This record gives sequence, structure tokens and C-alpha cells, in this order.
Amino acid sequence: MSILSQVRELDLRTDTLAALPAAVNPMALALNENPFPPLPAVRSAVSQAVGVANRYPEFLPERLRSLIGARIGVLDEQVVLGAGATGVVSQALHAMTHPGDRIVLSTPTFDGYPILTRMARLTSVQVPLDEYGHHDLDAMADAATDAKVVVLCRPHNPTGTLESAADVERFLRHVPRETMVLLDEAYIEFVTPEHRLDSAQLVARFPNLVVLRTFSKAYGLAGLRIGYGFASPELAEELSRMQLPFGMSITSAVAVAACYEAEDQLAQRIRFITDERRHLRRRLQAMGIVSTDSHANFVYLPQQGRPWREVFRDTGLQLRYFDNGALRITAAGRASTQAVLAALAR
Ligand code: PMP
Repeated sequence: MSILSQVRELDLRTDTLAALPAAVNPMALALNENPFPPLPAVRSAVSQAVGVANRYPEFLPERLRSLIGARIGVLDEQVVLGAGATGVVSQALHAMTHPGDRIVLSTPTFDGYPILTRMARLTSVQVPLDEYGHHDLDAMADAATDAKVVVLCRPHNPTGTLESAADVERFLRHVPRETMVLLDEAYIEFVTPEHRLDSAQLVARFPNLVVLRTFSKAYGLAGLRIGYGFASPELAEELSRMQLPFGMSITSAVAVAACYEAEDQLAQRIRFITDERRHLRRRLQAMGIVSTDSHANFVYLPQQGRPWREVFRDTGLQLRYFDNGALRITAAGRASTQAVLAALAR
């Protein structure tokens, strides 16, 4: 290797470390990440696993499957794992669809869905949300009659809204059994218990339903890429045919086990985040700014005559702007909220 290329490689290596995002950054409010770095117990477990990174993880992630299955009260064989919920969706689309099939999405929705739709060469049928950020479930169920997949996020991203249990039930009864329903619960841990669905019972009753969850949000492990889905044993078996060999890293099972052991501390963090979301919404309301009824770790400000990009220009805040003129802000902590409110008050 020439001296020049050695120097270049050294530079690149230094740059790679420098390019790691800061674990704590009150300005990072664009991706609905958890503002807290991993708990010490989780970090220590993951470090131990990194110590054996010369070894492959399990061929298929059986241990992780059992851990999750036991926790949520379903059989191991009902659980499917992936690189984040994104990985599980990709796997589900590849297992259950052919290029040219239709997928019904609300619009706007989580950015990953249009990308995964293109990757699986599907055609999307887009059903607009109403003005309060809710799904038009009747229109979606109607469109699902000649689609292979329909996606319902609860809470929804970007609006944070929740469809009621009765509406979800009616929707599931309306969708044909041949159409796979992805019920995306990426933010479910931020939802108060009385608003949660009995998802394990739902998959027992609806054989075409896959419930999606992730360790990226409430569990604060977005960088480790751990997500899962659960479904009837028959549907889960079909999805599992696409389970990538050695596909879950050697850190994932220990990280999940450590999170489950630290559930009380995580619950405190979740309460902190949801309290901050409520505080941010109240303060926005006091300033006459409308936001949707969010049950997740973010708030959504529909377009309301203010050019949001302009408002926050030069503030250093990283926020998510939408083509429809709306804005999404991750709830992180008081310093973040104050930076947002100060920009709005200017
Ligand atoms: N579903 C929804 C609704 C999301 O907002 C996200 C991430 N923003 C995901 C799924 C995917 O998350 P991950 O792949 O990190 O698990």
C-alpha cells in the first residue's frame, strides 16, 4: 500500500469515528429517536457480546424469538425478526407479494413504506388522512379488496394519532382474508395502557394480521436494528421462509434480554418522554398552534399558514418537514422543547 493511500485510509478511519452521531443532542428532533443513551446494564451486555464478534450469531435467531415470544405471550413460532421493523416489513413484502401487486398506504405515512414498496416493486394505492391526521379506514378497507397488503400504523407516523379499538376491529373484519394487514405498533410503548389493543388476541382471531414492533423507539436501540413482527403460526411460517441466515447480529439477543430486565427504568424514561410531549403540545396550543392528538414520542403540526422551514432556519434544530407543509418534532426533553418554542416565539 502506498504511503498516500495509507494516509488516506487513516483519515477515513478517523472521520468514521468522528461521524458517529452524539448520543445526547437536544437539537436532534427529526427521527423520533430516544433522547437517552442505552442504560448501563444494556451497554454492558452489548459490550460482552461485542467481545465475541469473531463468532457468528445463531443461524436463525431462536433465542431472541423465544425471549420476545415469552414476553408478549405468543408462541415462538409466531415471531419473526428483522433489522428493525423496517427489516420485518421488507421480509413480509418479499414473502407475500409479487411485483406489480398493490399495497394500500395512508398518506402521509412513515417514509419507509414508500421505499419498501418500490423495493418490492409494488404499486401503492394512497389513501389520504383526514384533517385531524386520522386514517380513512373505510376507504382503506375498500381499497384492500384488490390489494395484497394494507398498512395501518397505530400510533400513526407522522401524526401520532390512534384509531379506536372498535374502528380497528371493524377494519380488520372488513379487509379480505387474502390481504395481509400490517398493524405497525412501532410507538406502542408510548401509548397509555387503556388505549392499547390486545394484539396477541387479535393475531389469534385474524390469520392475515402481522403486528410490527421495534426496539428503536421506546427501548432506545435504533442503532442496533432490532425489530419483530408476530402473526398466526401459519402466516409467521410463511414470513419466516424469508428469515435471513445469520441475519440478527450477535448483540441483539443480549440487548433485548437486558432491556427486559431493566423494564422499570425504561418505563421511567418513557414517562419522561410522554410528559414532555404533553408539555410541548400544551405550550403550542397556548401559542395558538394546532397539533394533532399524538400518542407517540413526537408532535405533528399541520400546515397552518406558517412556512415551518423559514421559522426554524438557522436555529440548528433538526426537524422533519413534509411536502404538504406540515412539520414533525420529536419530543426529547425540556432543552429541546425550549429551543422549539423560542424559535416559534420569535
Ligand atoms: N414503523 C414506523 C411507524 C416508524 O415510524 C418507524 C421508524 N421511524 C419504523 C416502523 C421502523 O423503525 P425501525 O426500522 O427502526 O424499527
